[in-house]
Amino acid sequence: MNDIEQVMQNAREAFDSYKNLSPAKRAGFLNEIAAAIEAAREQLVPVAHQESNLPLGRLNGELTRTTNQLKMFARLIEEGSWVEAAIDTADESRTPRKPDTRKMLMPVGPVVVFGASNFPFAFSTAGGDTASALAAGAPVIIKGHSSHAETSQIVFKAMQVAIQKAGVHPCTVQHVLGSGSTVGKALVEHPFTTAVGFTGSFHGGRSLWEYANQRETPIPVFAEMSSINPVVFLEDTLQKNAAALAKQYAGSITLGMGQFCTNPGLLIAVQSEGLDNFLSLLGAEFTRIDPDKMLNSNIHASYHAALDKALAQKGIEKVGQAEKNAGEGEAFPTVAKVKANIFLQNPHLSEEVFGPYSLAVCCDNKEELKTVIRQLKGQLTTTIMGTDADVEANGDVISLQVTLAGRIILNDVPTGVEVCASMVHGGPFPATTDGRFTSVGTTAIKRWVRPVCFQGFKDNMLPDALKNSNPLHIWRIVNNEWTQQSI
Ligand code: NAP
Repeated sequence: MNDIEQVMQNAREAFDSYKNLSPAKRAGFLNEIAAAIEAAREQLVPVAHQESNLPLGRLNGELTRTTNQLKMFARLIEEGSWVEAAIDTADESRTPRKPDTRKMLMPVGPVVVFGASNFPFAFSTAGGDTASALAAGAPVIIKGHSSHAETSQIVFKAMQVAIQKAGVHPCTVQHVLGSGSTVGKALVEHPFTTAVGFTGSFHGGRSLWEYANQRETPIPVFAEMSSINPVVFLEDTLQKNAAALAKQYAGSITLGMGQFCTNPGLLIAVQSEGLDNFLSLLGAEFTRIDPDKMLNSNIHASYHAALDKALAQKGIEKVGQAEKNAGEGEAFPTVAKVKANIFLQNPHLSEEVFGPYSLAVCCDNKEELKTVIRQLKGQLTTTIMGTDADVEANGDVISLQVTLAGRIILNDVPTGVEVCASMVHGGPFPATTDGRFTSVGTTAIKRWVRPVCFQGFKDNMLPDALKNSNPLHIWRIVNNEWTQQSI
């Protein structure tokens, strides 16, 4: 038996045990993971800093976000109503007889999670994908990211401590390192794998989706891939607030050297004096931003290759660039502009440049601006910046934006994703492979479950969530009414 075969046999065994644990026991396990990671903070943060070049402050914040995510999912499953229990009791008097049917969400089986390079904690080994899958009752096989392999191993060690303390099956979480195209592919293709979580490049996510669909039994791949997060700037705000907008957006475009999937990579506006002023102020802001190290040498090389390609396109004009020269491994923050008629004819200009780069598209009029939005592919976010008067006059633009992305933002920046029940971090392809789901927030759990209906079962044979006495005290829909009452 090869290593992957053994890992997947283990995962299947773990599933048989883990799926039957009570929500309280699973919640206890998630809280133990959070505690074990917190206990390893002093060791983890410096190692992650060394491996990723991310600042210590950011990594400390990200570790806290990671443990908070684990605790958030623990609370969700302890409360329990997320299983969407629905009960329709039998009606013997009806013709034909109406059977007793009861539905709830149940875990799909072993889930493979690919760690992301740009979030060594929050989207990696014990990140949101893993936390939500474990909360759902699915064991997880983590394919650690090679650019922070040691960080990933330390987090996994902490998870093993939690496995022992919580007394769950020892293979509820397994960790694999190695190349994506061999180890990663084999994990996705293995018949015991039932779903995949991924955050990374379009090429990587698309490849995993293809492996999954070429299997004898295709499985869902929840890949968060490519987004340029278009921002529409309206005329009145450009005229009144150009300096503040330039500062705010220079900060957002270059935050974390642009290595966020929500980075605002496209700025769209109708030509005006206000726009010219805003772009010259934005360019000036960029001259004052120092180049900084990117996550790893591959990402650095890809950024500069993609930047050179973007700037070499016909009609592109540089608006601003860092004045200080970039050192080894450092990204050169850059902003450029192009006329909308050229943008509309060149698909390369709407490709993601992963790093501190943004392109401003200058439209002749509102109709052209709407054509630009209509031509864009699916996005994680889209933003509208405007005064009250602007927004009132542009309902049609906002309506187009709603069809484009998973999150529509008014007068703010897209970087920064709140972890909460109402968050949507997803969007139509190619932002993700399935725009009906989110990878951030409590509803991320819905990726790892499927609805199961029990028909005609005796009460003692039903899962607790569907029993007459409602022993978990959860909200359920009983004969079309929301209630926490027993039947
Ligand atoms: P990535 O290359 O997509 O890799 C993410 C994970 O998926 C890694 O574990 C990788 O394995 C695996 N993988 C990639 N291609 C695969 C394939 N064909 N088959 C199986 N597994 C595969 O993402 P990344 O490492 O974060 O960044 C690489 C480039 O993607 C960057 O240069 C950047 O320009 C671009 N990008 C990244 C993001 C992001 O949010 N992270 C967003 C947009 C673009 P390995 O360990 O073998 O690499």
